[in-house]
Amino acid sequence: MDTKILTRNLHVPDLQEIGVYESLGGYRALARALKELSPDEIIETVKKSGLRGRGGAGFPTGLKWGFVPKNSGRPVYLCVNSDESEPGTFKDRLILEQDPHQLIEGTILSAYALGCRLAFLYIRGEYVRPAEIVERAIAQARDRGYLGKNILGSGFDLDIVVHRGAGAYICGEETALLESLEGRRGHPRLKPPFPASVGLYGSPTVINNVETLANIPHIVNNGADWYASIGVPGNAGTRLFGVSGHVVRRGVYELPMGTPLRELLVDHCGGVRPGRRLKAIVPGGSSTPVLTADQVDVRLDFDSIARAGSMLGSAGVIVMDDSTCMVKAALRISRFYAEESCGQCTQCREGTEWLHRILHRIEGGRGRQGDLELLLDLCANMKGRTICPLSDAAAMPIESYVQKFHAEFDAHIREQRCVIRDAPPVAT
Ligand code: SF4
Repeated sequence: MDTKILTRNLHVPDLQEIGVYESLGGYRALARALKELSPDEIIETVKKSGLRGRGGAGFPTGLKWGFVPKNSGRPVYLCVNSDESEPGTFKDRLILEQDPHQLIEGTILSAYALGCRLAFLYIRGEYVRPAEIVERAIAQARDRGYLGKNILGSGFDLDIVVHRGAGAYICGEETALLESLEGRRGHPRLKPPFPASVGLYGSPTVINNVETLANIPHIVNNGADWYASIGVPGNAGTRLFGVSGHVVRRGVYELPMGTPLRELLVDHCGGVRPGRRLKAIVPGGSSTPVLTADQVDVRLDFDSIARAGSMLGSAGVIVMDDSTCMVKAALRISRFYAEESCGQCTQCREGTEWLHRILHRIEGGRGRQGDLELLLDLCANMKGRTICPLSDAAAMPIESYVQKFHAEFDAHIREQRCVIRDAPPVAT
């Protein structure tokens, strides 16, 4: 079975052009759905397909759509979350830059299913080129009659507005994204109410990730059973894995859910650099707990990674070999979250800064006895008590680095220096 779904046409030149996309069967799912399928039938198909959100949390997409109240008398909005800001994550960029019509078709189909007449594509400020490519593709779709009034004579109206963010990581959080769209500072909202009932401008709103929506045309075209047959039970379909770090071939790889991590790293990425040994793997973006080399046989799906003590998250796989100083890696991560905390919650605002300060002194050879206990205590107090998950996202990786590489952290404090920097390469 060909397991390439989202990337199967990426070798085709000029795929960003609407004519090329149409020649490969593009917008056929939309034409058929508008003629033959009711919105509820599309929601049922997506539910049955088993598609789970690709942004990070892995929530079932059809179920999320089902939370939108019917006939509330308020407009329904769909927001495409293109604020791909999690360190180590660059897979949505591939779709935005190389196959934007796949995303636009998925957005139109989803909007039709949700009864939405105006969708927003929120894209991170740093994605200048992807934003230009998507804006151009939307204009092409409008010219062809796939957007605008009375789409393909169906009576369904929809437009998509591209909104560029200002480069704040927190705006990838659903409610911060909505605040930013409304023109305010990107501060996450207290929940409930959840966006499905009270979202953008106080109306029911669905926020979906780019990769999630890009799957919709394929599910409509090929059916729920086809999609559910790919991957492993409870984790249907494929996933775009963005692999960075110490492997021979970095890049984005589309593989069925449930593929062993070892297969991704060895067969597709060519293994770690010559003369080096695998040390650690971050499986789903910088906020996910780190895995050790002996966990390399874990399967890459939401549930298997959770059982291994981490999260599949954004599927941004960061590989570290034995040249990596884990204290330094933790320090770098802590600095990112300290800078990106929006500051509303004390645990997050102060906690992220403390983590960074303690790690900074350990890495600088000024660590104190009791620092590791202090780090773990701080992490425990930062989790599960804040308005949004950023505080957890900052604490979870640091906790895992300290717990899993305790001896290395301890040696840094004892010897007041980095014990890895001087280590010779280890032959594989
Ligand atoms: Fe802001 Fe952090 Fe609180 Fe989230 S957890 S709302 S980022 S302070």
